[in-house]
Amino acid sequence: MVNAEKALVLFSGGQDSTTCLAWALERFARVETVGFFYGQRHAVEMDARPKIRASLTAQFPQWRDRLGTDHVLNLDLLREIGGTAMTEERTIAMGADGLPNTFVPGRNILFLSAAAALAFRRDARHLVGGMCETDYSGYPDCRDDTIKALQVALNLGMDRRFVLHTPLMWIDKAATFALAATLGGKALVDLILEETVTCYLGDRTHRHDWGYGCGTCPACDLRAKGYARYSAP
Ligand code: ZN
Repeated sequence: MVNAEKALVLFSGGQDSTTCLAWALERFARVETVGFFYGQRHAVEMDARPKIRASLTAQFPQWRDRLGTDHVLNLDLLREIGGTAMTEERTIAMGADGLPNTFVPGRNILFLSAAAALAFRRDARHLVGGMCETDYSGYPDCRDDTIKALQVALNLGMDRRFVLHTPLMWIDKAATFALAATLGGKALVDLILEETVTCYLGDRTHRHDWGYGCGTCPACDLRAKGYARYSAP
């Protein structure tokens, strides 16, 4: 059953959000996407977004008419606030507070608030994001409790009944590959390997069996291990 309501997918151009986009295209008759500039070092992921959207509509005719407008919003204030390895040239390391310095405080809270404001304007009831607390990097704004609290706050603050969907919340990276295979078969998995950017450094020069990336940052490490488990016989 396809839901006739509109969904807005937080689409960064990475593996997780591309899987979420396919998940939404399978379920909702109308799907729009939103991406955010926030001074990320891996801004190359923003270049991947239109290519992935074009490939999805070219290779999956059943999704073509469902995929609507793409939006890009500027949240450069996260770079202004700074202090993280995601927006500045600094070595990725664990902080004394137990959080990696790739943590951008408030990022997902800002993303979801901005996405909800856009969804309000675009008459979209469903917000879809790739937040996950299974094999994540310890970011507190990826936790299910944060998302559920935000759903309440956004609905109170905008007098809407938004539904925040996080299809990856309880699955690991291997299961995320498996979900992509379920949604779009080998073609979708291949598209994800070839075109999505997960690497924190935005490395597009080193191709591994799990896709492009530096191969050493925590995001590459998670993706490599997930792919190895997914593709193991
Ligand atoms: Zn990397």
